[in-house]
Amino acid sequence: MHFSVMILGAGSAKPVANKYPSAQLLTYDNECFLIDCGEGTQYRLLEHKIRPGRLRGVFISHLHGDHYFGLIGLLSSLNLGGRTEEFFLVGPRGLDEIITMHFKYSQTPLHFPINYTITDTESSYQVFENQSFTVTTIPLDHRIPCAGYLFREKPQKRKLIKEKLFEDIPHEYLRKLKNGEDVVDEAGNILFKCLEFTIPAPPPRSYAYCSDTRYNESIIEVIQGADLLYHEATFRDELELQAFERYHATAKQAGIIAAKSHVKKLLIGHFSSRYKEFSGFLEDAQSVFQATEIAEEGKVFAIEYS
Ligand SMILES: [Zn+2]
Ligand SMILES: [Zn+2]
Repeated sequence: MHFSVMILGAGSAKPVANKYPSAQLLTYDNECFLIDCGEGTQYRLLEHKIRPGRLRGVFISHLHGDHYFGLIGLLSSLNLGGRTEEFFLVGPRGLDEIITMHFKYSQTPLHFPINYTITDTESSYQVFENQSFTVTTIPLDHRIPCAGYLFREKPQKRKLIKEKLFEDIPHEYLRKLKNGEDVVDEAGNILFKCLEFTIPAPPPRSYAYCSDTRYNESIIEVIQGADLLYHEATFRDELELQAFERYHATAKQAGIIAAKSHVKKLLIGHFSSRYKEFSGFLEDAQSVFQATEIAEEGKVFAIEYS
């Protein structure tokens, strides 16, 4: 099953030419969701030839503008495009009020229902579930209520060893084998032994998105072992004090969190506009966690089986 994130924007609060505020496109199989929706996100989608109508919903980490100012525009365009399908919106308290107020004063009735889930950013708990994955909040330490999101695939069924099975084996037998059961006849004789004809499914994959936050060790338990972690890195190491005062993290701190959480891979972004060159961020993070990459805008990162 395809599981990936595309970086649509990884800039920070202050606008910079040719850099975009936070937004990521999460794709699982055929389902698409946005994680954060900075200003102009709908244009990034169009540039990458992704129809906004395909989106099932948006997860907003917090209500600083660089993480959600694109939402009103996106919702307006979905409305203009004739959407009638339900749209999921997950985010902190106030998000529903802002949207309701905006459409009230622009006298724009939305023709599709919005299914809101308001996050309690103080604790980690499940806020979304569909057939394929669950989403759990990651409480972050920022100036205003802020939560990241952990997307975790649901456990899959056992895999059939096709070469060992007859072509015309009944569908019911295959179902039992995939569910981990032996196939037995009426007398109780084993016809097909599950362990002989199947292999275990790979462990569920997960993606942890940690937007704006101070260095915060309490998230380690929640994101432990994630296959991919995005962690903000607004400053370089020499501005650690400034990072703390502004409720942000440094690239090295992102690396330390990745190492302590035993994630497989780290992406860093949300670099302050004061920096014109980003290789130093990579060096800082890699000094403690080698498997780090920059969340480059336009790049797709597949979440692989470990
Ligand atoms: Zn931000
Ligand atoms: Zn922020």
